[in-house]
Amino acid sequence: MALSPAQWKRRQNITIACGVCACVVAYTGVFVWAFISRASPFAREIASLVAAEDWPAIIDRTTLALDAGDERREECLYFRGFGHVQMGDFRAALSDMASAGSYGPWPGWPNARAYREMLADATAPLPEHPEPIYGSDGRLLYYLHYDQLAPWTEAMGEHQRLSFEFLERLFGVRMGPVHVYLFNNWGPFERAFTALGGTQPRSWQAGTATSGCVLLCRTFSDGTPSTSQHPAEMAGLTCHEWTHLLLRQQVGPLDKWLDEGLAYWAGDQAVLRWAGRRPINWLGSRALDLGVLNDPFTYYDPAIATDAYAQASGMTEALIGRMGPQGVPQFVKLLKQHGDVDAALTFGWGIDSEDLLEEWKASRTSIQGGQGR
Ligand SMILES: [Zn+2]
Repeated sequence: MALSPAQWKRRQNITIACGVCACVVAYTGVFVWAFISRASPFAREIASLVAAEDWPAIIDRTTLALDAGDERREECLYFRGFGHVQMGDFRAALSDMASAGSYGPWPGWPNARAYREMLADATAPLPEHPEPIYGSDGRLLYYLHYDQLAPWTEAMGEHQRLSFEFLERLFGVRMGPVHVYLFNNWGPFERAFTALGGTQPRSWQAGTATSGCVLLCRTFSDGTPSTSQHPAEMAGLTCHEWTHLLLRQQVGPLDKWLDEGLAYWAGDQAVLRWAGRRPINWLGSRALDLGVLNDPFTYYDPAIATDAYAQASGMTEALIGRMGPQGVPQFVKLLKQHGDVDAALTFGWGIDSEDLLEEWKASRTSIQGGQGR
């Protein structure tokens, strides 16, 4: 069973966990998709509650299911986590997210471990007290939740606010109000990632977005704590995560390579805008086929994630090279109309994803040996 884009617009429940220098996967989104796709009566009931944004009912219903020993424990926990996030109970949401990560196909995934460590640290202050942030026209843009773990500055707040409107102009659409939680869990994440992947993460950012909520963390591998020293990069991260949210609000689930690629592009544009320079990009060491590139779990595997992100952003750059930045809003419209990446590409430019893959491979060959993109 597949949902139409219109149906998906009502079900923008998705989690994006971002890892090494990048965003890792719509992990929960995959679960939501698989969950709803099964179309059991329970799944349909939850889907309708999500559509109605009835978060208390979702918490009640999933709690009942868990108490009754429902085998879809992971999905229940994620949905309950969404409910808690939406209702502002950050600690309860972390608890559900951490527990859910124990049941997935990759039980040790870094974010789940990081959440568990944050919860175990009784002294860790968690975000509360949302601050409404308004746009230049007085419109409510988002609610900001943050704490002293993620030092905030006035300059960064201004970057973020302007970035929200910048992103909307970039894509030619408007986003509904969202919640942004900012925290720093670099320590737990670094330990978890090192244990899992055997290597140090470079710098890390993470985002989790439900229908209208983004969780953000970022720390830099030079030891700079969290966000305060890097307002432009923080705006870039925020734009990256907001792009995932925006695309799901507008289009529904996308092919993974394009979802990450567009988020990368938007984040780069924000850094370019606010810092006056491009972020450092890198060349992947290998070319992956589309099947691997569209497999969400690729982006959780420390051995391959960096290559996958490099390739997704490279292919998207090849696409934007064809249409130009002004063509991006048009492309979003085509995606909405066609509900399918290849159909939109064919309609707009007479190409498909495989063509872009070949184009990317050719451009990669021509610059290999240089200093990277
Ligand atoms: Zn991402």
